[in-house]
Amino acid sequence: MEPPRKPQRIVLAILLAAIGCVLMIGSSSYPDVGRNETVPRSRQARQIGLFTRALKFVMLLLASWCVMTFVHESGHILCGWACGGTLKTADLAPWHLPYSIFDPDPRPLVTLWGGPVLGAAIPLAVAILVRRDWMWFVANFCILANGVYLAAAWVSGASYLDTPQLLEHGAQPAAIAVYCLVTIGFGYVGFRRQWIRALAGFSTAHP
Ligand SMILES: [Zn+2]
Repeated sequence: MEPPRKPQRIVLAILLAAIGCVLMIGSSSYPDVGRNETVPRSRQARQIGLFTRALKFVMLLLASWCVMTFVHESGHILCGWACGGTLKTADLAPWHLPYSIFDPDPRPLVTLWGGPVLGAAIPLAVAILVRRDWMWFVANFCILANGVYLAAAWVSGASYLDTPQLLEHGAQPAAIAVYCLVTIGFGYVGFRRQWIRALAGFSTAHP
């Protein structure tokens, strides 16, 4: 195991800050949403409310991206370690595609599947436990993004991406196709629902 590197510490700090922001968003009561209002608000108050909601929405999207990249790559790393691999290098910075390299990697297929599988399963498990709107937003984003990523990597064929690596190490194309269909299908439906609810300030009753 390599000692923690400075960029990884920075990413962790950003991630914690992002999670803090999301917790703030999740715990607020959204007084500016405007549903069931009896007293009309001024145009300025409406604009401030709209701006605040848009800002929270963008922060939630950024937090989702950070969680998605971090958990996906951590999935590779955890599975690589679990199979006795040696982590040579890793970069978890969310502003580019994170990567990790194991050498040796006794079971590369497990390491490779670890990213997309844990990357979708861990946020889903946390969402089921936490049962908060903002966490369902993050979880659905992660599920959809992992499916889209594997599908896009398959189409692009770039040899360093997960899908060509999976195929090279003997993964069944049918298994990858099923993963993509399930995650994109469920992820899209769930994320679309949460997206609409987030834009409305999570003010509507949970379906
Ligand atoms: Zn990956």
